Amino acid sequence: MTGIDDLPIRDELRGKSPYGAPQLDVPVRLNTNENPYPLPAELVDRITERVREAARDLNRYPDRDAVELRTELAKYLTRTAGHEVGLANVWAANGSNEVIQQLLQTFGGPGRTAIGFEPSYSMHGLISRGTGTGWIAGPRREDFTIDVAAAERIIAERRPNVVFVTSPNNPTGTAVAADTVVALYEAAQAARPSLVVVDEAYGEFSHRPSLLPLIEGRPNMVVSRTMSKAFGAAGLRLGYLAADPAVVDAVQLVRLPYHLSAVTQATALAALEHTDTLLGYVEQLKTERDRLVGELRAIGCEVTDSDANFVQFGRFEDSHRAWQAILDRGVLVRDNGVPGWLRVTAGTPAENDAFLEAVRELKKEQ
Ligand code: PMP
Repeated sequence: MTGIDDLPIRDELRGKSPYGAPQLDVPVRLNTNENPYPLPAELVDRITERVREAARDLNRYPDRDAVELRTELAKYLTRTAGHEVGLANVWAANGSNEVIQQLLQTFGGPGRTAIGFEPSYSMHGLISRGTGTGWIAGPRREDFTIDVAAAERIIAERRPNVVFVTSPNNPTGTAVAADTVVALYEAAQAARPSLVVVDEAYGEFSHRPSLLPLIEGRPNMVVSRTMSKAFGAAGLRLGYLAADPAVVDAVQLVRLPYHLSAVTQATALAALEHTDTLLGYVEQLKTERDRLVGELRAIGCEVTDSDANFVQFGRFEDSHRAWQAILDRGVLVRDNGVPGWLRVTAGTPAENDAFLEAVRELKKEQ
């Protein structure tokens, strides 16, 4: 049988496996940071209406520049993220993964490097590899915060072309202070003109305000966002960025023409009409997240402070065994490969209760 490695694939892809958490059929799935609340019926109806309208014109290519959608995303950011942005500042793609890919195609590539502070979202490294960009694994402190002095040193030494700062960070839940982001931006610009990408996929869940206002006067800073988490629309595949208009112009050089289908644009616009309802679920999830942190600590777990819709907990001598023991009780959490730690996504109150019960039982056995 022919295997991947028998094919004439690129050398850097040899022996690698595709990214993805197991999609197992278990009663309680708290492993991929999804929003547990299905879209409300009124929104499903509105999506149906908007998609029906769009369907009539599917013989034509969609609006290539997604003007209406980007305008509505800009209004959403202006209203909720503490900084006024307009159409020219906002770009959208199929999930923030595609946004990141377009940024790396534009600002990374062969002969260039990107850095992230690990453990962090592993797709930053994987999309770097996929775009031929060298990857630099930067450090974090024991408590998973970014050590600014250590980060400044490695940036000065390695002079990366792209710097990823994930806030709140995945899988640790750690938010990054605005002055840390500014320090990293300045260190990066001092080393060489380079792009700083603030990945705010979980921004809406944070106790802290968005880092979006930092783009003001910093043309090489980008904030990326997604509708996968706060909007409860992971299946929609809609991510977006806000930055200086020049960055939006630059990604046009690599985007595929008509990358956002008319169906995607219509669905995202319908969801944006229901922002207030969806942000109500975010408030419930923040309360549940804080409850998970408190109850896990009461059970005797170590827990990393979380600003996201998930919680990193431990420590386990053998985290994979703990993962399996929790799964055996019908609850799927995530083993991100951070030794000693696991990650649980905040679900509905009943799902979280089931998870907490599984951990209580596991702790009793230890
Ligand atoms: N950034 C971070 C930090 C994430 O955790 C994720 C999803 N797990 C993404 C980006 C990508 O999300 P999406 O492509 O669904 O927008």
